[in-house]
Amino acid sequence: MNKAQTETGLLWQSVLGEIELKINPSTYATWFKKTRLLSYKEGRLVIGVPNAFTQKQLETQFQSLIEKALLNNNIRCKSVSYCIVAHSQKPDKRHLFSWLGGATEQASGGQRWPQNRRPTLNAKYTFENFIPGSGNELAYAACQAVVNNLGSKYNPLFVYGGVGIGKTHLIQACGHAIAQKSPDLRVLYVTIEQFVQEFTDAIRYKQKGEFTRLYRNIDVLIIDDIQFIAGKEKTQEEFFHTFNVLHGDGKQIIISSDKPPQAIPTLQERLQSRFQMGMSVDMQIPDFETRCAILKAKSDRMNLKIDPECVDFLAKNISTNIRVLEGALNQLNVFCETHRVSLATRQLAEKILNKEILRKPTSQRVTPARIMEATANCNQVPLSDLTSPKRNQEIVVPRQISMYLMRQHLHLSFPKIAQLHHKKDHTTALYAFEKINKELLYNEEIKRVIREIKEVLKI
Ligand code: ADP
Ligand code: MG
Repeated sequence: MNKAQTETGLLWQSVLGEIELKINPSTYATWFKKTRLLSYKEGRLVIGVPNAFTQKQLETQFQSLIEKALLNNNIRCKSVSYCIVAHSQKPDKRHLFSWLGGATEQASGGQRWPQNRRPTLNAKYTFENFIPGSGNELAYAACQAVVNNLGSKYNPLFVYGGVGIGKTHLIQACGHAIAQKSPDLRVLYVTIEQFVQEFTDAIRYKQKGEFTRLYRNIDVLIIDDIQFIAGKEKTQEEFFHTFNVLHGDGKQIIISSDKPPQAIPTLQERLQSRFQMGMSVDMQIPDFETRCAILKAKSDRMNLKIDPECVDFLAKNISTNIRVLEGALNQLNVFCETHRVSLATRQLAEKILNKEILRKPTSQRVTPARIMEATANCNQVPLSDLTSPKRNQEIVVPRQISMYLMRQHLHLSFPKIAQLHHKKDHTTALYAFEKINKELLYNEEIKRVIREIKEVLKI
């Protein structure tokens, strides 16, 4: 792949990030997680899929979703086609556990775990590359404590929280740190889907014994996205025994999930209680300052010069998912490189990033109603007065401020703004906008009130 293609590969990650937000997690895991970009030439995009069934689903059910997500990420292509990538098709019986390299003997011989046989840890997901801050610092501290007290204090460590906030990164960072500290320990990271797949294959190819030996002979088991074990009775059964053997031997178990154990539907009670035996930590999206620090660290690493105002803008507007934040940064980077722009500014971000990426979650979105409410509160007038015919000075100014903010921040039309304030004539709104604009030049009191309202609305 040339450079442009590598960059598009990165963009595919942000396309996936966007799709992940739009569909439910198990649909995403089933159809999208195993896709990857194979090539992008002359506007033709080829996506690798694990099997023909996935291809068919993507073509028939998800084509428009994919096209939209591509467009939102500024990937303009004439065609999207699929190619089945052989290695993730059904495994050859002889090679089912080949990545182990005879691990069972090695396990008893105490030799080094052949981690390199199997793609496991992502090299980027280290503690060094992780920015701790409010929202994730408890999980960060717990992960570090686990690395320093294997199998004792927090066993299992159960990390849970929403999509794209750093769970996989943190639990893999544990894997890296443990492997670095004690190279002889057998550290295994698997997603629960891999576990299910291997378990099913093991049964199909009558290698259940191998499977069991493998999973019961490791020192550290890191399991990602355990919530997908929901509804899989046989796997739950197997995992329960694996868990007990490892835990009983004092081996460390680290688990991630998008929800706490008690909220995973159809999770057997006995597993639920096992997961609650050690330490559960809740991860939240990092706060504004931490998001800024993440953006700075990542832009430094990609050699992207970014205006502090742009960092501020992105951190303010992308507030639910770090993966989306990274995707936005990647887009800016690609744009700056291909158009030889030396500094990523707020204006550029506003221009090239899709509005949907920048949209705030519903609860935080600024609406006319929230503007009115904040304006009434900060001016200490009743909300209903803003839409009343009253014309005394105490209410006229707040009403004008409310109109001004709707124009300035929501870009509503004057007739619409007038209507929202129960005024027939749109020139009332126009006049209000111009009047407040002028007042802002010298009227300290109005400046102060507007600053206060903006603070309330976080705009
Ligand atoms: P999750 O598993 O919770 O869905 P990931 O661990 O995959 O999320 O994180 C999504 C992306 O955001 C990854 O590329 C990860 O490196 C990055 N990320 C999340 N939190 C941080 C952080 N605190 N510091 C640096 N990168 C982070
Ligand atoms: Mg994850």
